[in-house]
Amino acid sequence: MIIAIDDTDSREGMCTTYLCAMLMDELKEYGDIIDSPILIRLNPTIPYKTRGNASTAFEIDTNEPEKVMEHVISRVEELAELQSDMTNPGIVFIPEGEQERVKEALGNFFRQAVREVLEIEDAKNLISELGLPSKGLKNGRGLIGALAACGAMLNPGWDHTYEYLAYREKDAWGTPREVDEESVRKADLETYPDTWDTVDCANDLVVCVPHAGDPVLFGIRGNSIDVVTRTSRMISSEPVERYMVYRTDQGTDLHLIPVEKIADIRDLHSYTIEVTVATDPQTIRGGHTIFSIRDDSGDEMDCAAYEPTKNFRELARKFIPGDRIVFSGSVKNSTLNIEKIKIISLAEKYESVNPSCPECGKNMKSAGKGQGYRCKKCGTSADSAERVEVERDIETGTYEVPPCARRHLAMPLVRCMKENGKIFPSR
Ligand code: ATP
Repeated sequence: MIIAIDDTDSREGMCTTYLCAMLMDELKEYGDIIDSPILIRLNPTIPYKTRGNASTAFEIDTNEPEKVMEHVISRVEELAELQSDMTNPGIVFIPEGEQERVKEALGNFFRQAVREVLEIEDAKNLISELGLPSKGLKNGRGLIGALAACGAMLNPGWDHTYEYLAYREKDAWGTPREVDEESVRKADLETYPDTWDTVDCANDLVVCVPHAGDPVLFGIRGNSIDVVTRTSRMISSEPVERYMVYRTDQGTDLHLIPVEKIADIRDLHSYTIEVTVATDPQTIRGGHTIFSIRDDSGDEMDCAAYEPTKNFRELARKFIPGDRIVFSGSVKNSTLNIEKIKIISLAEKYESVNPSCPECGKNMKSAGKGQGYRCKKCGTSADSAERVEVERDIETGTYEVPPCARRHLAMPLVRCMKENGKIFPSR
């Protein structure tokens, strides 16, 4: 039987993955847990999310499905942060023998939940159409994520990575985390690029340790169960209550929809689009860098490297009109929030300089407002400044925002090393 749960936490506490890990432990008395559980990230722009729009599922081989369902529902009722307005848990079960029948419909639902905006009714209708046992608490919004996780579990062909999540002892929840940063940096050095987003070297930040009141102590992301487990064992920290390794769609770019026209772009979706930079980047209050992009039909929209993207903004500030770039990112308020870029070609950049004297070769001086330029020594003059091409101090190639600003679903460039062209992973 597949068990999927979502939307159990609030900003103050709990974490759906922790509940999943706990249930996997508790349910051992009713049967055998099969393989890795999954942690899927869904549409990252959904406003209802607590943090990263995650959902979880696992599978148990059991002869007591009724008892299992009863146990899961009562534990979610007991442990979910039901007092929070934002918490609307959903639980979906796929009984043994039903999996082939519902596989295709749920696979489609999973893909939609990663890229589109769904309604609670979409999930409820599909659940009743397929006749699946489920439980929605409060408004039941979590049924969307839980149903999507069932779809992901039944259709395991998606690109995937792994995350090792270490959880804190209950007494420590809400207190500052004790993780030895030196051990984290050492572990990162030893296993990068098979692991990623453990440390952000450019911004001098340990990024694998969260700061909120949830039970997660740290999370190590990588390309195999073995490497994330080895890396985690190198980290010295406060006691770990339990841990779990999840198969996940994190770092896969599954959320990106390829489009050619700005007219096809909608808010709350994520895209990849090849366009031309249309205006010089401006840095506005708050440190956000904004400019306009134009597609081949002449339509324009805003594009932003927001303040949290830190050093990436230095790159964005070097763009000039005419640069041809493929942008990837999510769209909110009609603005594309950059996750990654591929610079295809760079426009020529010119600067006005004082003309040089044809006699002595030195730069002429201004002869006064509107009076052109003159070389005092040789007596030569020129009417206007010279336009000279200046070197662009950026290269074509693929770049990304730093680990501290990475979207869970965004594929880190260390996973794209086989791509054509130059790649500049950020770390
Ligand atoms: P948690 O650890 O509880 O999962 P979270 O940051 O992952 O925290 P949730 O609390 O799960 O976020 O909130 C996200 C909500 O959005 C869930 O109810 C989920 O069912 C719903 N949701 C997920 N994907 C979509 C989608 N594509 N369209 C609409 N709602 C969605």
